[in-house]
Amino acid sequence: MYDFGIIGGGIVGLSTGMALGRRYPNARIVVLEKERLWANHQTGNNSGVIHSGIYYKPGSFKAKFCGEGSRSMVEFCRTHGISHEVCGKVIVATEPEQLPLLENLYKRGLENNLKLAKLCAEEVKEIEPHVSCIAGIRVFTTGIVDYKQVCQKMADLILSQGGDIHLNTKVEKICQTGETQVLETNNGTFETRFAINCAGLHSDRIAKLAHIDPKAKIVPFRGEYYELKPESRYLVKTLIYPVPNPAFPFLGVHFTRMIDGSVHAGPNAVLSFKREGYKKTDFDIRDFTEVMTYPGFWKLAAKHASSGIEEIIRSFSKAAFVHSLQKLIPEVQASDLVPTHAGVRAQALMNDGKLVDDFLIVESKNAIHVCNAPSPAATSSIEIGKAIALAIPSQPHKQVALNL
Ligand SMILES: Cc1cc2nc3c(=O)[nH]c(=O)nc-3n(C[C@H](O)[C@H](O)[C@H](O)COP(=O)(O)OP(=O)(O)OC[C@H]3O[C@@H](n4cnc5c(N)ncnc54)[C@H](O)[C@@H]3O)c2cc1C
Repeated sequence: MYDFGIIGGGIVGLSTGMALGRRYPNARIVVLEKERLWANHQTGNNSGVIHSGIYYKPGSFKAKFCGEGSRSMVEFCRTHGISHEVCGKVIVATEPEQLPLLENLYKRGLENNLKLAKLCAEEVKEIEPHVSCIAGIRVFTTGIVDYKQVCQKMADLILSQGGDIHLNTKVEKICQTGETQVLETNNGTFETRFAINCAGLHSDRIAKLAHIDPKAKIVPFRGEYYELKPESRYLVKTLIYPVPNPAFPFLGVHFTRMIDGSVHAGPNAVLSFKREGYKKTDFDIRDFTEVMTYPGFWKLAAKHASSGIEEIIRSFSKAAFVHSLQKLIPEVQASDLVPTHAGVRAQALMNDGKLVDDFLIVESKNAIHVCNAPSPAATSSIEIGKAIALAIPSQPHKQVALNL
């Protein structure tokens, strides 16, 4: 019998396991992950950015956890010798219409207590000589890291704190018997007093297995990347972002210097026909049918039809992708870029067609379900884990009071 059973070995599940082990050193903790490696989905296929928190509405969970999380992530990396760099980034306006949006972003960043600087075009060039823009913001606290390495360290710490971790273990059924949750997997049955659902792209399904309605469905949006050829990496010094469209939770295709020195460009945001579909041709009948029969999807599609079509074009046409990147760096050419990995975002969508903007964490008697943890959840993971651990009482069968 475990005290805490965590479903999902991405960064949110692992940081939660680590935080629970610290808060309750005598508790029996188990992490169940269906893949043969940690961080095999969103966490291991992301941009590797430690976000500062500039974009998020002050007072939201994203603003709170990202601001604090960027500091705790850097501290975690320093403590455990994980390569990272607080290199800062620039957000640049390339059209006059974007200037008010840039100004709003600057004000929002100040409200979120960030260290920022407004830049004119020449000042942007001093940092990023190949960028062409009319104004920019420098965000000093943005950093880069390899989140797979962070996860490996978190898994090691869970083990050293006495926790159990099981890879290749997929939760298929959840039964409640008295005060116990029985997690049935392909690799045996695990009994726990309290379950924490951190299943990312499958979090809504796990919630349903536990008879919880998260009131939102996960819709998978694939983000595809190109990589600058080594001889073209000189075009990018740090991280270069456009002003994002405030109607979307995605940041627009951008350039990111990764911690291994490579430079990635992307990600776009296209509907994926499979929750874990990393290739354009990936298709899963259940995943596809669930999206197509969900009224919320059609309401979203009707509202953003033109952006959706643009994203599909950009996915299939390298020229269109390069055209978006040239708005930031006019010199970049198709010949500078080669396709590289893709990631799939788990974005919760409500029945009325609204994307769930903030992190969504749903509580029940002896479970917590993390039902929306898109970007910047990797950055925020240590703080999300701590908040979950704080919310769970020492006698797990008591009602939780999540004071996030
Ligand atoms: C393209 C892209 C770029 C991004 N860039 C950034 C960035 O730069 N910075 C940032 O902070 N965030 C970024 N994000 C967001 C960030 O990666 C995610 O918010 C974060 O990784 C979510 O972590 P997670 O643990 O909730 O999900 P995941 O990493 O997806 O982990 C969930 C785990 O649950 C497992 N699982 C699912 N079902 C079951 C089951 N039935 N039984 C057992 N295990 C199960 C899965 O196999 C998976 O390993 C990006 C995301 C994407 C997709």
